[in-house]
Amino acid sequence: MDLSSQLRPAFTTKALAILDRAAVMRAPDRPLGTLDVFLALMTADAAADWQRIWLNFRQPDEADADRYRDPSPHDGDSWNGRPLTATCARAIRAAVTLADGTTPSLLPVSAGVLALCLVGTPATAASAALGAPAGRAHSLLLELAQEVLVGGGWDDIESVLENCFDAPAPGAPGELDDEDPEVRALMEDPDVRRLIDYQADRIEALVATLNEFLRADTLDRSGALLERHPELLSAQVDRIITKLIGEAEQMGHFAEARRMREKQHFLENYRQAIGAPLPSSAPGKRSGECSGRDHVLTGSVIEEPGYMSVAMRCDRCHVGYVSDVRWQPGGEAHVGYHVFPADGATTISQEMLMWAVATCEKSIAQLEQMGGRVRKSKPVIGGRPESLRRHTDFKPI
Ligand SMILES: [Zn+2]
Repeated sequence: MDLSSQLRPAFTTKALAILDRAAVMRAPDRPLGTLDVFLALMTADAAADWQRIWLNFRQPDEADADRYRDPSPHDGDSWNGRPLTATCARAIRAAVTLADGTTPSLLPVSAGVLALCLVGTPATAASAALGAPAGRAHSLLLELAQEVLVGGGWDDIESVLENCFDAPAPGAPGELDDEDPEVRALMEDPDVRRLIDYQADRIEALVATLNEFLRADTLDRSGALLERHPELLSAQVDRIITKLIGEAEQMGHFAEARRMREKQHFLENYRQAIGAPLPSSAPGKRSGECSGRDHVLTGSVIEEPGYMSVAMRCDRCHVGYVSDVRWQPGGEAHVGYHVFPADGATTISQEMLMWAVATCEKSIAQLEQMGGRVRKSKPVIGGRPESLRRHTDFKPI
């Protein structure tokens, strides 16, 4: 993915100039790394009191750029078309996540926040070139970088950074649809209704495929369908089948339930055979959003006279939304919704965000179609219950 087109609005002009210049000027024969960007930053950010850093650390120079390399090679990401090392791409994304997750927000990302993330883990080429590849030296580098380059600090910068480097970052490719030009076009379209139609079509197509699969009466036929429709292996389909089995049993259709259970086993065996079993849904300590196919979405509804609250969250990572409807005495419905990130994450993947927004907007549209007068409050995106909030408060010097 080209991060420059995806993340451009999230950076200050100065940080952009540094990244743009590094992509043009530096290391034309290899992917751009953290040290390349750091060197460009040292030249461009002359206002910072670099001397305080050079009193404690090595000042890297041009010759170091060939000597120190990022641990993770190029993995598809670029800046203005220039390939980036995966380490550098992570640092750039982490800078956006860090700025976005900080209270008050530090967006757009300054040159200083970018610098902090370029040395954000001990493993980057930039950290190594400054002579801070581990331990106390790296902690001191982070302290100084906060003070000198960012102009303020976080309580526990190491764990804050760790979370930022792990978080599903803005601009990270979605598991399912992000590469699909049709979905891209929809995501850029402010009219969310078109996305709803698209999602509905997608689900409809999935259910049609599943029905065909459940009806297939030979192994050959089932196998051929599976080859054409790998989406049948998703956790979502597994949950749909479980639900269908339950319904068939409730209605006394035991033969049908048994047939569906056989199909479910067939899918599970196939997943095992290709080495991609469904992740266990056992609760455990998790951090960050599941990848797109792994969510286990569960809904709950609370209804009281004049009030209804619907929550839909993933049992595993807890990404999801809560929507509330309050009926006013005059008959008007006040509707609002809140989309939450996963545990340990400060951002929501574009895929889950669009799903949540589309689902909530669809319910609102249905209320309107049924003739209801609806007043919608601005959706709240992000944030989390106070008790779960991480310590990312930023204190300026
Ligand atoms: Zn999940």
